[in-house]
Amino acid sequence: MYCKLCNEKGESSINLLGTNLCMDCFRAIANTPISHKKYDYYKELVKEILKEYIYQRTNLDPVK
Ligand SMILES: [Zn+2]
Repeated sequence: MYCKLCNEKGESSINLLGTNLCMDCFRAIANTPISHKKYDYYKELVKEILKEYIYQRTNLDPVK
């Protein structure tokens, strides 16, 4: 599985809401302070991941 963020095939990766991330990127996202210039970038990325997740869930499990 390739990391969605850096496109590297990391040795250890985690699944964040159906999206594959390597541990390095996951740590970077989790540890980036709000004041950091990359924070907005990560925030947008997480938003995209969430959107995809919700979209998949909606298709798999339609509201009756
Ligand atoms: Zn990565």
